[in-house]
Amino acid sequence: MPVWPFPANSAKEGGGRATCSKRTVSEMSDTSKAAGAADKGLRAAIVPVTPFQQNCTLIWDPDTLVGAVVDPGGDVDIIERVIGEAGMKPEKIVLTHGHIDHAGGAAELKERLGGVPIEGPHEAERPLLDALKEQGQAYGMLTARAVTPDRWLAEGDTVSIAGRPFEVLHCPGHSPGSVVLVNRPQHFALVGDVLFQGSIGRTDFPYGDHEALLHAIRTKLLPLGDEFAFICGHGPMSTIGHERRTNPFLAGDAGSFYA
Ligand SMILES: [Zn+2]
Ligand SMILES: [Zn+2]
Repeated sequence: MPVWPFPANSAKEGGGRATCSKRTVSEMSDTSKAAGAADKGLRAAIVPVTPFQQNCTLIWDPDTLVGAVVDPGGDVDIIERVIGEAGMKPEKIVLTHGHIDHAGGAAELKERLGGVPIEGPHEAERPLLDALKEQGQAYGMLTARAVTPDRWLAEGDTVSIAGRPFEVLHCPGHSPGSVVLVNRPQHFALVGDVLFQGSIGRTDFPYGDHEALLHAIRTKLLPLGDEFAFICGHGPMSTIGHERRTNPFLAGDAGSFYA
């Protein structure tokens, strides 16, 4: 399990490739000095879950250990173990969207964590979240359960993780209620399946809309700035600048998709 000091203002484009191991927490030195002594960088760890190798992401404050679990799609035993290895204390669960690989384990993890609140996604995901059990049966993930968040998110809302603000951008297209969470002070975003390194979200699922997805990426993600680093729902981290320059979907060519 890689543990990332967030890149703060010193994010290097193209840097920060995840090498996923679920076993160890390798503490790295705090490189987020640019964020200021009063705001040490949050840490993040990526836990690949489900047959889709979805990047369930743990984010926490290195001092208080308080944090959030983003997109616990399944393999809840593994997520729970990594939470324990990191020593973090989840205060909430955050969902970027309602697909099985991102949300299928949320109801169970909420129970195991003593009922912590679930925040997100946008309410347009309600049909997908209501159908998680059926989604799970279709993909052999038989423990998946329907879930209703404690808080739906809308454009401009703020999600607090360990006391840090993450701004909500509603980015429909991959799914109607996908949200992206942006932490501006540390130039960092959680983008779910909206944008990937070298690709964008699939839009051939029910409710998919290719033009809406491209519009959201062009009008909401690219303007964040080239230095923004992001963790996506599948595959390695990237930066907005790297994708703006090299992502074939943003240049009009074809490429590969993640589910
Ligand atoms: Zn998805
Ligand atoms: Zn996914």
